[in-house]
Amino acid sequence: MKKISLIVPCYNEQEALPIFHREVTSVLQGLSDKYDYELIYINDGSKDKTLEVLKGLAEADSKATYLSFSRNFGKEAAMYAGFTNAKGDYVAVMDADMQDPPSLIPQMLEILESGEYDSVATRRVSRQGEPPIRSWFARLFYRIINKISDADIVDGARDFRLMKREMVDAICSMSEYNRFSKGIFGWIGFRTYWLPYENVERVAGETKWSFWKLLKYAIDGIINFSQVPLSIASWGGLLMTMLAILALIFIIVRRLVFGDPVNGWASTICIVIFIGGIQLFSMGIMGQYMAKTYMETKNRPHYIVAETNREDATKIK
Ligand code: UDP
Ligand code: MG
Repeated sequence: MKKISLIVPCYNEQEALPIFHREVTSVLQGLSDKYDYELIYINDGSKDKTLEVLKGLAEADSKATYLSFSRNFGKEAAMYAGFTNAKGDYVAVMDADMQDPPSLIPQMLEILESGEYDSVATRRVSRQGEPPIRSWFARLFYRIINKISDADIVDGARDFRLMKREMVDAICSMSEYNRFSKGIFGWIGFRTYWLPYENVERVAGETKWSFWKLLKYAIDGIINFSQVPLSIASWGGLLMTMLAILALIFIIVRRLVFGDPVNGWASTICIVIFIGGIQLFSMGIMGQYMAKTYMETKNRPHYIVAETNREDATKIK
C-alpha cells in the first residue's frame, strides 16, 4: 500500500490545529482502503500552546507525529525538516490554517496516479480577503522573478503540492541555507499539474506575514534564483561611464568654443550625488549576494529539533 506523508508547519496555531487535524483525518480515512498515511506536524518554536495541542493529538492518534524546533526557524526550515523526515511515496506540504483545503487531496492523488504528472501544485485564482496593495506587489514579484530567473513560478502558487518520492529526494538534495521553496520546486523540474482553486481565509489565528516580511522574502527569492541584479549593477556602471565620457567631451568643446564663465555648481553637485547613489546601490546589490554566500559557507544547520515522538527522526540538519 502506498503511503502519503503530510507535512504541516505550525507557528502559533493552537486554535487552528484541532480543526485542521479533524478535517484532514476525515479526508485521509476516506482513502484508507488505498493509502496509508502519516501526519508530520512541525512546531516551529511556537509561543502559544501549539506543542501541548500537538502532544494531545499524537496521544489520541498514532498517525499524528510531531517535530518540535528549539526555536522559530521559519516556514522554509519547517518544510525542509518535513521533507527530510517524510517516509511516504507521496508527500505534501499543507498550512495548518485550512487555507490549503484538505478536500483537494483525493483529486490530487488521482491526477498523480494517472502517471502523467510527478506533482500536483495548487494556485489561488482569487485573492479576496487580501489587501489590494499586497496583491499588486505579489503580481509584480511573480512577473519579475519569472523574467529574470529559471525558477518558473506561477502567479498565486501555494506551497501546497503533492509530490512523488523522486521529487522529494531532489528537494532534499538541495541543501542550501537560504531556501526559497517556490523557486526550488520549479528549479528541479519534473512534470507539474496546476490545480486552481478559490482563495480560502484562515479559520483561526492570524497571518504571520507582515508586508515587510513578505517584501524581504520576495527580494530573497529573486537573489536566490537570479544573477540578473548583479548584471544590472555592472551594466549600469558601464552606461554611467560612457555618459561621463560624452559629458567630458561636451565640456571640453564648450570651453574651447565659448570660454569659461564659472557656472554649473548646482548641476555638478547633483551629478556627484547621483553617481554616489548609483555606486552605493550597486555595492548594496553585491553585498546582498556576499551576505548569502557568507551564510552558505558557514554551513549551519537549517533546524534543530528539541522534542519529537518520531523514533528515527533527523533532529539536526
Ligand atoms: N509558519 C511557520 N513558521 C513561521 C511562520 C509561519 O511554520 O515562522 C506556518 C504557519 O503556521 C502556517 C503556514 O506557515 O501553517 C503559513 O503561514 P500563514 O498562514 O501565517 O501565512 P499566509 O497563509 O498568510 O501566507
Ligand atoms: Mg495562511
